[in-house]
Amino acid sequence: MMTICLLNEGKKVLQPNNQYCICLYAGYEKYEMLTNISHIFKDELSDLKNNGFFDSDGVCWPVELFFCGDWKFMYIIMGLNAPNANYFCLYCNCDIESRWDMDRIWENTGNSKCKKKPPLFPAIDQENYIPDELHLLLRISDVLMECLFNDLIKKKEFEKQIKPVIEAAFKELSIQFEFFKSVGNKWNWTSLMGPDKKKMLKNFPVLRFIFGARGEDIERLWCEFYRLYSIIRQPQLSDQEIDQYKVDAEN
Ligand SMILES: [Zn+2]
Repeated sequence: MMTICLLNEGKKVLQPNNQYCICLYAGYEKYEMLTNISHIFKDELSDLKNNGFFDSDGVCWPVELFFCGDWKFMYIIMGLNAPNANYFCLYCNCDIESRWDMDRIWENTGNSKCKKKPPLFPAIDQENYIPDELHLLLRISDVLMECLFNDLIKKKEFEKQIKPVIEAAFKELSIQFEFFKSVGNKWNWTSLMGPDKKKMLKNFPVLRFIFGARGEDIERLWCEFYRLYSIIRQPQLSDQEIDQYKVDAEN
């Protein structure tokens, strides 16, 4: 499904009544499939961008287009590669070997290094593709949980001693959470929704399970990620706050 909305409506924009469905399609989330869909309105979008929208009183409203979706949908629409590709980035030519290096500076000038297919909505400018913050929260917190739990699961006292204490810690936060054995006798755990993940990042007592400096580092990482996530949700940010965000995110 694709919907369109008016960002000028502010907070109301997320209400179902303010999301206008322009396309429902049955099929896979694949470039070839979505190409057929983009043909239906890509010219109309270009027309809106270039000429604005004329209302019934003949008043012209200028239009700036933004695109938002989860990462997979975004890279398909932009004609780019999957996140595990060598040139994976939606915004620059950073390659997979260099992405750890926080001293390098990459400008948002687009990814020209991957074997690019034409973007499906050329009316959208490079800097107006915005990944949605909910999926950022969900996927990054998944990685943080995996790192912590996979460490703890390796310990021989996990099942008898650690597992019940972790489950109790979640209960204290009023979060429904448990470990269970999945295929191949591998430990897995309840997958949490956004609100529970926020509660967890803010309050989960990592230090109870990983002691010393390492535990402190991991707990700080969880809290800092939550703090940075809260900043990107603010409706207004000053230039200074944006500069500070960049420094903090790199750290
Ligand atoms: Zn990049």
